[in-house]
Formats: sequence, structure tokens, C-alpha cells
Amino acid sequence: SPQLESGLKRSRQGIFRQIVQLFERSQIDRELFDDLEALLIQADLGVATTEALLERLQERVRRGEVRDPVEAREALREEMVALLEAAMRNRRVKIYQRGVPFVSLVVGVNGTGKTTTIAKLARYHLDQGRTVLLVAADTFRAAAIDQLKAWGERLGVPVIAHAPGADPGAVVFDGMQAAHNRGIDVLLIDTAGRLHTKSNLMAELAKIRRVIQRHVPDAPHEVLLVIDATTGQNGLNQARVFTEAAGVTDIALTKLDGTAKGGIAFAIARELGIPIAYVGTGEKPTDFAEFDPEAYVDALFF
Ligand code: GDP
Repeated sequence: SPQLESGLKRSRQGIFRQIVQLFERSQIDRELFDDLEALLIQADLGVATTEALLERLQERVRRGEVRDPVEAREALREEMVALLEAAMRNRRVKIYQRGVPFVSLVVGVNGTGKTTTIAKLARYHLDQGRTVLLVAADTFRAAAIDQLKAWGERLGVPVIAHAPGADPGAVVFDGMQAAHNRGIDVLLIDTAGRLHTKSNLMAELAKIRRVIQRHVPDAPHEVLLVIDATTGQNGLNQARVFTEAAGVTDIALTKLDGTAKGGIAFAIARELGIPIAYVGTGEKPTDFAEFDPEAYVDALFF
């Protein structure tokens, strides 16, 4: 996809170019594996994911399937795609039906790009012919409410918001009711991203969940965790807290355009086992794509 190709440009021209260059050597040896290990860790794959990939690669060398650096490069590409696909198998099919709003709860730490991602998602659903409603349930920050309203205006999408400091549960209640009354197809709910304590976060999200389920028992249909690719392994640690607290079903990986370390996607897939559904590749609503393992790896390597 053109978004992935431009979004991953820095990664492709940075560490992944060096990785590709490793395979221009004349033979596979210990040194090649050592250098590959260092570069993969540098690319944000993390130690555990790097070791797992190298182990599989070395196994293929031992079995005689991979005999030279060119074959090793192709094998690495395949193993990287397989790693992303393994997490994709945990995907829940998204069913959009008329009359029952598809409810998406968007969670993540402030500054990761949550609001921008909601705007991108709104546009994505509008493009698919669905009606959209935004709900400003991050009532803790006045700026978050204003920002969501501004996006709503720009996109021509209604926004349900209360005053700063209001009860998030009450805003969600109004949002659910409005969605029902107006026959909205997709409800995108912005939530507070302050990571006070895990129990605070859990309590607030549990309350929102109860309000949602009073209207639509099998909702939320998607709990989307937004992760900022530029925060690397630190972002992964934040993600662990959210996955434990929020029952995350999908990940949106943002700001890929701002990092030369696109390897974080592999660490997320392997260590969290949660599928990456969307990627953000810039500040505009169109800088957004559905995640595709093969396209992602190709955009890193070529
Ligand atoms: P929130 O606090 O999590 O709601 O974060 P915002 O949506 O306000 O985004 C924080 C900053 O990151 C803003 O300046 C956004 O324009 C920027 N941003 C969000 N997504 C992306 C992205 O994919 N690429 C780039 N380059 N910037 C982004």
C-alpha cells in the first residue's frame, strides 16, 4: 500500500537497509548472524523476538534449506511475515450490520495519537459507506474534548460530548442512545489515557463497558489499543498494562513515519499476540492503512 511504503520509508532506508546489505556477503557464518542479531534488536524487535527469529533461521540453515545469504534473506522475510500472521490469527471478524451500532472503544496513553486515530477510523468507515458517531469519553482533558469536536466538524460527523470533568459513563450512555436514535453504524469512543494505576483504569473501563452493554449486550465489538511506534519497547510495556486492564482486541500502531525502527510491530505481534489492525503513517486522516503482514514486511525490505 502507498501509505505503508511512504510511512516505512525511514525504517526501510535506515536499519532495514543495513539488514538487506548484510545478505550481500558471500557466505552465511557466525558473524552474519551476530550482526543480524544486533541490527534486529536496534530495529526495536526486542531481544526475545530477535532470538526467536534467529533460532528459526538457524534451524533452516541446519536443515540445509538455506544455503547462502540470498536464501537466508528470503527465509528471514518469510519468518517475519509468519510471525505477524500468527498474531493475525487471533483476529475477531468484524461484523457491521444495519441497525446495531458497531462499538469501538479506543484506549491508550495520552499522546500516542488516540484522537487522530479516531479521526482516521471515522474517515475509513465513512469511505465504506457507514454512518459514524464520535463519543468524547476522555472527560479528564478539556483539550481532548475540543480536539474531538474539531475533528467531527472537519469530517462532518456528530460528536457526543459533555463538559470537562463529567462522568465518562454518562457521556457513553448519551452516545449509545444517540447512536440508537439516529441509526448510526459505527460508534467510536475516545477514553481517558492517563495511566494512574491499573486498578483506576480497569474501574473506569469496566464502568464504560457496563453502560455500553446495557444497550448492546455483545459490545464493545472492538477494543483498540493505540501504540506510538516511536516509543519502542517502552510503548510495549504500556501496552501490557492496557491489555491486562482493558481486554484489548486490536492494535493501531501510530507514527510509523516518525521512526526508523519499524521492528516494533514484530515485538507487539509476538509478545502480546494481539493483531495489529491499523497503522498510522502521518498526521492527516488519509495517512492510515489496514495492516497487512506481507505488505508491511515488503515495505521494510525493498
Ligand atoms: P492523543 O493524546 O493520544 O489523543 O494524541 P493525538 O491524537 O492528539 O496525537 C498526538 C500528536 O501526534 C499530534 O500532534 C498528532 O498530529 C500526532 N500524530 C498522531 N498520529 C500520527 C502519525 O501516524 N504520524 C505522525 N507523524 N504524527 C501523528
